[in-house]
Amino acid sequence: MKMVDEYRNPEKIRALSEAIRAEVGDRGYRFMEICGGHTHSIYRFGLNELLPENIEMIHGPGCPVCVLPIGKVDEALTLTNDPNVILCAFGDVMRVPGSKISPLEAKARGKDVRMVYSPLDALKLAIDHPDKEVVFFAIGFETTAPSTALTIMRASQLKVENFAVFCNHVTVGPPIRSILESADLDLDGFVGPGHVSAVIGTTPYDFVAEEFGRPLVVSGFEPIDILESILLLVKMVNRGEAAIYNQYVRAVKREGNAAAIAAISEVFEARPSFEWRGLGFIEQSAYRIRKAYAHFDAEARFAMEEISSPEPEDAICGDVLIGAKRPENCPLLGSQCTPEHPIGALMVSSEGACSAYYTYVHRTLVATKG
Ligand code: SF4
Repeated sequence: MKMVDEYRNPEKIRALSEAIRAEVGDRGYRFMEICGGHTHSIYRFGLNELLPENIEMIHGPGCPVCVLPIGKVDEALTLTNDPNVILCAFGDVMRVPGSKISPLEAKARGKDVRMVYSPLDALKLAIDHPDKEVVFFAIGFETTAPSTALTIMRASQLKVENFAVFCNHVTVGPPIRSILESADLDLDGFVGPGHVSAVIGTTPYDFVAEEFGRPLVVSGFEPIDILESILLLVKMVNRGEAAIYNQYVRAVKREGNAAAIAAISEVFEARPSFEWRGLGFIEQSAYRIRKAYAHFDAEARFAMEEISSPEPEDAICGDVLIGAKRPENCPLLGSQCTPEHPIGALMVSSEGACSAYYTYVHRTLVATKG
């Protein structure tokens, strides 16, 4: 399969692994892969086994479902108390636990919650059910924000009165800054996200090198992409260089996707502050719907109130999310928290660090021990 096999070539993988081993010095290297897609690839292809021991890969806050605080799920579920409301969400959001139940459990208890594959599906539902209020529970980074923005623009053009969006779209730059400003992690560089960068380009990361003196390599998701990116990072660290490099040239342009950026700017503006799981409130780190499209803003239409809900007891989701702890440090992993019965969002999402660790490492360890 072209575009996949060539990036999984075993000889090239071996050569890159050897090149990294030849390049590393005596020091330790701590790199954060921001995106959960990279975390999954690292575990799935066993890339950490191919790295020398003095390179530590730390997963970051790039899983859109995982960074959503529990209170936001609770807020969305308050909408379902109105029997006239249909709440729509993507499949992984359906399974994210709120403080009491997930959207899927709310559905099982008779609330009108429906899974959709795109915001346009939710808009179609509104058109088909003019007697109902349809609310799309929107989450995600700049990767998915354009499709929500375009759907709101479409609803406006069609004058669909009974459609609204509960907007929880977030932006990738501010959490990276927040992590760099916290002295705790002491990172040497970043493997930058691929999908988000296809929308925003690489210029929004310039501050990482210019203000914090750290290198960042935007990377593809295949084994060769990730190993090439790590090799570039090691070389830059060894030379004392800090630059922003684009390894994923087949998908990412420095200037990003102009049409997608324009759609975001048309519909959204920065929120003064937004709560992130594990990182707390970060200024200018999320989008809200502009006044010109206020009719489609569920928070305004339904007078929604912010809810702040605590993490479940003994769960360390927030610490895992920012790389301060690893999934295997959680006392609930594999016992109370599994993909079938997740306690935290990191076990739900296909980009969650706990889901990746459980699927590719924990199950194997348990099977090996018999
Ligand atoms: S194992 Fe479950 S409870 Fe523990 S950190 Fe991961 S998602 Fe959270």
